[in-house]
Amino acid sequence: MVWGRELARMIYSISGDIRSQYLDVDERGRLIVRIGSEEIVLYDLLRDKGLPGAHIRILPVIRYMMDKVYGEFMDAYRKYGYKGGFYPVYPLKANSEEIVLDTIWSHSAKYNWGFNAGTYPEIKALEKYSGDNRLLIIDGVKDVDMINLLEKMSSRWRIIVDIEGFRDAELLSGHEELDIGLRIKVLVKGSGLWSHSSGLDSKFGLTITQLDKIIKKHEWIINRAKLLHMHAGSQINDLVKIETVAREAAIIYNGLREMGFRIEYVDLGGGLAYPYSPSREDYFSPNYTLGEYVDVIVRVFSEETDHPNLVFEGGRYIVAPHRITAVKIIDQRPYTVGGDLGGEYGLVDEILSSKNIQELNMNARRAREAITRLLANPPKNLESRRLLEKLYGVISRAIAEKAYQLVMEGGFKTLYEATKTLNYVFEEMVKPTHRFYASFSIFSHIPDTIIVNQYFQVVPLQRLNEKPEVLGVISDLTCDSMGEYTRFITRITDENIELKDLFTSKDHKLIAIPGKTLVLNAIPLHIPREKEEYYIAFLDTGAYQDMLSMKHNKLQEYPEIIIDKDKNGKTIIIYKNTEQKQNYPK
Ligand SMILES: *Cc1c(COP(=O)(O)O)cnc(C)c1O
Repeated sequence: MVWGRELARMIYSISGDIRSQYLDVDERGRLIVRIGSEEIVLYDLLRDKGLPGAHIRILPVIRYMMDKVYGEFMDAYRKYGYKGGFYPVYPLKANSEEIVLDTIWSHSAKYNWGFNAGTYPEIKALEKYSGDNRLLIIDGVKDVDMINLLEKMSSRWRIIVDIEGFRDAELLSGHEELDIGLRIKVLVKGSGLWSHSSGLDSKFGLTITQLDKIIKKHEWIINRAKLLHMHAGSQINDLVKIETVAREAAIIYNGLREMGFRIEYVDLGGGLAYPYSPSREDYFSPNYTLGEYVDVIVRVFSEETDHPNLVFEGGRYIVAPHRITAVKIIDQRPYTVGGDLGGEYGLVDEILSSKNIQELNMNARRAREAITRLLANPPKNLESRRLLEKLYGVISRAIAEKAYQLVMEGGFKTLYEATKTLNYVFEEMVKPTHRFYASFSIFSHIPDTIIVNQYFQVVPLQRLNEKPEVLGVISDLTCDSMGEYTRFITRITDENIELKDLFTSKDHKLIAIPGKTLVLNAIPLHIPREKEEYYIAFLDTGAYQDMLSMKHNKLQEYPEIIIDKDKNGKTIIIYKNTEQKQNYPK
């Protein structure tokens, strides 16, 4: 296999059962969105309007994800002969942009899809919909105004309000039209970045001890409580944890019924992990499929004598893939010194004459240590500073080039050797040589990069039929060192790849290792040509990023391109916020 669309799909992870539904690479190497039989070239959408970047919202993807979840639950219900009902609800927290809510609402009727909200403004955002007696599950901290608003809405919605403490019990006593949910702390620690959402010390929900105390004073709760609500955290990447939480919930469900509660609904909260990265083994990628997730939950509750109604409350999974954040590269600089090989340096000659990887590693180490000593004593004049900078750059370059040469000569065996234990060599093989400045704000457009070190898949919008030329990091417009995106994960299994296609074409850096997950601290990209408008995309920015967006350096709003289908199934494209382009360099 030579470099081409197929390898591009693999390296940039435009595959899998979600992305391959709506994304692809066309013959000219451009990233396209496919809606039915129509192909939309994303590059053209941005360039035609001279945009510095945009959030591209592909609304049919939200509907696809809803269909997919519903379908999987129905399959599992049939498989286990499950008798309870299925009640999906969408948590507004994941994304409550009006266009997202409208899309979900307008697709929800056939599934009876309800909502979950936790604040007054979230509930307000739902007021405009007719409700149609769907489930509306309320958690969070309440007050009189919130309860009054809910009471007003209760003729149109089936409202269940969680009790999480004495204050909630007092606020809800007497409001008979509102059903009660019991939010119980999940004992079992989830896995992943939100594992602190569970445990007896976690922020939300009741311990059983606390519940006992509350019902002693508020006995009415026993008759009005209809829902058991347990949420173990977001993006739980391990299927074993999902099963453990489901089993814990089943035990509590039984216990509560023995206590006299008439619980009808069990809600395991969110946590269904979205596959952001191709690795399938880190926080950003579940070790299970949607089908396996659903199967485990339905199986656990099918073992009960009474099958409760199951509530699905996933948010991230439903909305993550609908937004792509595309940004234009407007400048490029060397990552550090840059520079060509050459000059008379003993350390460099040693590196270049290394006969094998071990020897190279030793020479690389010696050179690194020498440089570290020199850097510790800043040069006394500009001339020695020039020399030091040059040496620093040349050593880096020499190690990378020599490693590339030895791997080309020695084949895959040498590659595996270089990537296994020989740190001084490997470090240079994956070190960026370029810094690309992109017209956007990481703080505003992909804030989770900073908040939780979230991985977003980067893909160029064009030139995917050309092998990437260099490894570079992506810097944003803010004057903040944290405004830099530096991660790229590859995982390829195909063994028929030519060795040279695993390296970038200009700086000869490593992109992937067959059969292994490789985490790079840089992104494989092309160097924008003179006058070329080079755009890259961050995929799956549709969950949480809109809501967590920050205002760093007064950059927040961004142009938007909305892709949808009209009533006749024809694709429509709507531009919004295009006046924002004046705020971003072009
Ligand atoms: C955050 C949250 C969710 C949604 O979680 P996802 O991981 O986005 O699916 C669902 N329920 C509750 C109670 C939550 O706090």
